[in-house]
Amino acid sequence: MTKYIFVTGGVTSSLGKGIISASLAKLLQARGYRVTIQKFDPYINIDPGTLNPYEHGECFVTEDGAETDLDLGHYERFLNVPTSQANNVTTGRIYQNVIRKEREGAYLGKTVQVVPHITDEIKSNIRILGESGDFDIVITELGGTVGDIESLPFIEAVRQFRWEIGYNNSLVIHLTLVPYLAAAGELKTKPTQHSVKMLLEYGIQPDILVCRTEHHINQDIRRKIAQFCNVNINAVVESIDASTIYDVPLLMLKEQLDKTVLTKLKLPHKNEPDLESWKDFLGRLKNPTAEVNIGLIGKYVELQDAYKSITESFIHAGARNECKVRVHSLHSEGITEENVNEKLAGLDGVLVAPGFGSRGIEGKIVAIKHVREKNIPFFGICLGMQCAVIEFGRNVLKLDGAHSTEMNEDTHHAVISMMEEQKKIKNKGGTMRLGSYTCELKKGSKAAAIYGKTRITERHRHRYEFNNDYLKQYEEAGMLASGINPENNLVEIVELKNHPFFVAGQFHPELKSTVANPHPLFVNFVAASLANKRKK
Ligand code: GLN
Repeated sequence: MTKYIFVTGGVTSSLGKGIISASLAKLLQARGYRVTIQKFDPYINIDPGTLNPYEHGECFVTEDGAETDLDLGHYERFLNVPTSQANNVTTGRIYQNVIRKEREGAYLGKTVQVVPHITDEIKSNIRILGESGDFDIVITELGGTVGDIESLPFIEAVRQFRWEIGYNNSLVIHLTLVPYLAAAGELKTKPTQHSVKMLLEYGIQPDILVCRTEHHINQDIRRKIAQFCNVNINAVVESIDASTIYDVPLLMLKEQLDKTVLTKLKLPHKNEPDLESWKDFLGRLKNPTAEVNIGLIGKYVELQDAYKSITESFIHAGARNECKVRVHSLHSEGITEENVNEKLAGLDGVLVAPGFGSRGIEGKIVAIKHVREKNIPFFGICLGMQCAVIEFGRNVLKLDGAHSTEMNEDTHHAVISMMEEQKKIKNKGGTMRLGSYTCELKKGSKAAAIYGKTRITERHRHRYEFNNDYLKQYEEAGMLASGINPENNLVEIVELKNHPFFVAGQFHPELKSTVANPHPLFVNFVAASLANKRKK
């Protein structure tokens, strides 16, 4: 029977429930359990697809094309197992399902209410992953902080669910903050006590408390928290600030979180966790033999989470190359022909990020011209590839005013244009080309050499495409379409023949890079940037 773990958060947001969930899952997986993680988000959007990165950070896209919370990226990067739509559910989706059923007459004669209809719908979404038979343990992370109005139906659903499946088959981990008051020189437990009290008011006694802290929590404090929150002393787990999120599984191992969880769930401890390859990765990450400086050009650069998967992919690729990757965020709006030299000075490679809309687009194009002409390694992702195509069209093919119809509908040279099937769509949410698609790589191309094979799949999230009317001109001038979708002939990768590394993809490779499998495009781009640095 599948066992269920719920992770709630107290005191404040941003304590890292996603990382704790992923780290626990990693430890259980390393002991031989099949684990998945699910995230419930209490907001009313159906999914984060229509949210601005400033609101919500990056939107993570799954194989099956769901636009999801960025925590799913952490789950995949830690576990190396793909997630799907079932792994991320919002209040909006729950209500949408209930309201659709109401219209279909599923509740005929009844008043539809939060309890039981919304809570039942939440519970059925908890069960979906367990009932698939693919997992021994399902970890469900509840977004938000206990006490928020919008989290209430989720908390109530968890209370009911635990009662239904039995207390040995589930447990609740509450993540809280133990702040340090510098003036008093003390760690304070009261906020934790209060947030546990609030959970108790809703009928939930947490089994384990994971305490985020800047200083070690000594035995006395552990005893105090345990006593006032009704948990065993070994169920008070310290989660001290770490230098990298990838240390957290080892920190949780030291605290024996995995053992405490298995004991409470009455599951055999099996073997000690096999974390050899994880430790090998950490060893490489922490002992680099070289360093490269890479520019990340985008328009949401002031926000740490906007390009989460890209910065994590650089961590994986850096470790693989035993090379520290320093990512320098550059705002594309600030780059002009006059200052590009100075702005990109000292960079060993440049990545142009994905994005939507015209803000900052000209700065990206100027930067690409610079790196193309100066033989600086370039890696373009999605909008980054589209900008590379526009730049080449304008400056090499002399297609005056070449553009994407996303930015200029009336351009004479629509080298990037909207896909036919996109033109009919009126809705904005969930209507892009989303999820995994196959791509054929041309034999002898750089892309084929990088991947080491000719058939790949990558994840997409966009509306616009390379316009094949121009393909011949581009290829004759040296920009090769080295990756093609075999079903519809869409160009998925472009590369330059006479350049040390100029590769751009219409898809998002960053969504598939994991600790166990760093993405080959990132690994090779970092290697090319390192080679460029050494040449200088
Ligand atoms: N805005 C572009 C499109 O929709 C690129 C999207 C992206 O970079 N994810 O095609």
